[in-house]
Amino acid sequence: MTAVAGNTTALAGRTAADIAIDESDTVPVFRPYLGPEVHAATTAALNAGFLGLGSRTREFEFGIESFLEGSGRYAVATSSCTEALHLAARLADIGHGDEVICPSFTYVAGHQAMTATGADVVLCDIEPDTLGLDAARARELIGPRTRALMLMHYGGVPCRDTEAVYTLAREHGLRVIEDAAHAFGSTTQDGHIGASGDLTCFSFGPVKLITTLEGGAVITSNEADVQVLHELRLIGVNSDTEARYRDTRTWHYDVTRQGYRSHLGSIPAAIGTAQLALAKEFIGNRQSYCRRYDEAFAAFPQLARLDTDWSNIAPFIYTVRCPDEMAREQLMAHLRSEGVASGIHFLGAHTFSFYRSARRGPLPVTEYMSERIVTLPLHSYMADRTIDRVIGAVRGFFGSGSGL
Ligand SMILES: *Cc1c(COP(=O)(O)O)cnc(C)c1O
Repeated sequence: MTAVAGNTTALAGRTAADIAIDESDTVPVFRPYLGPEVHAATTAALNAGFLGLGSRTREFEFGIESFLEGSGRYAVATSSCTEALHLAARLADIGHGDEVICPSFTYVAGHQAMTATGADVVLCDIEPDTLGLDAARARELIGPRTRALMLMHYGGVPCRDTEAVYTLAREHGLRVIEDAAHAFGSTTQDGHIGASGDLTCFSFGPVKLITTLEGGAVITSNEADVQVLHELRLIGVNSDTEARYRDTRTWHYDVTRQGYRSHLGSIPAAIGTAQLALAKEFIGNRQSYCRRYDEAFAAFPQLARLDTDWSNIAPFIYTVRCPDEMAREQLMAHLRSEGVASGIHFLGAHTFSFYRSARRGPLPVTEYMSERIVTLPLHSYMADRTIDRVIGAVRGFFGSGSGL
């Protein structure tokens, strides 16, 4: 690889303690790694002077393809995962009059990407093991206008029902769009998420496992899709991508369709390549931090956790579930007072005014989880004392006579 990889080796040996959080600072929920490798890659890309979609974009796409180790899978980098999902839906020819069955319990970026095409979302419940789309519930929601099913791999944990959802899709001639914003690097018995399947979308947004600041990618097995995605990504222009992949531009081209301004430029792509070189280290660290949380929180049976040993998972967030909504509010307030931030992933889309009239099935698991779930800090490098602060703050709450 390039100078970026060389730099990584030269700088290897960093420890979490080197980039620790001061005792007096709040522990944030997210903390992107922006170390010297990232600065070096940014400076090199800026000095090269070619800013738009370029050879660095292609290099990053190659990097994603080889990381996923999928045979015949192609990556098309985009300006965000929201745009990746939007372009995937456009590619699948989803639009006005169509329905996409989505979990209500996911980030609203997924719903927005679908409704941006003019399609309607149909809000489906999740199953309680992995908080992924419940295939049996999805089956009940299929109607004459259904065109696609959306999967979202929560927190990096692969959906329990992935196979059942693909079976359902085959039976009804539907597309599957996988929102894998949380799951870059996670594996199943079929290899990495994104190494197989229909259309997989990743996020490289500010807080995701690896970041391009803002960015995403669509993964497809169909070589013809790649050309369509290139046109969708670059305002419908049919031939500019190849020239730009050589850091040049073309002056004669056709415009073949309605496209969007959704490409990934050279500087973010270079940051992505630098991050990718560290992804395995990020994943290994996060797995060990999740296991430390699990061990500590096993003492509190009131606090439900995902049932996983993290071994095949690239953890994006670490969540626990409180006994009820009131307990969650109290826990979050207590953590805040102890200098530990926490978050909520997610509120069901059916609670938002824009999706109030969306068709839906029963949503008991979504309701249950969205009232109780809380996200604790998880970073790619956490010093022992930072993890101890989070654990101590949680322990302090349950030991504080709150009656829970
Ligand atoms: C972050 C996220 C997205 C959107 O990603 P962007 O790259 O910020 O557009 C989509 N879906 C889920 C589940 C996410 O967490």
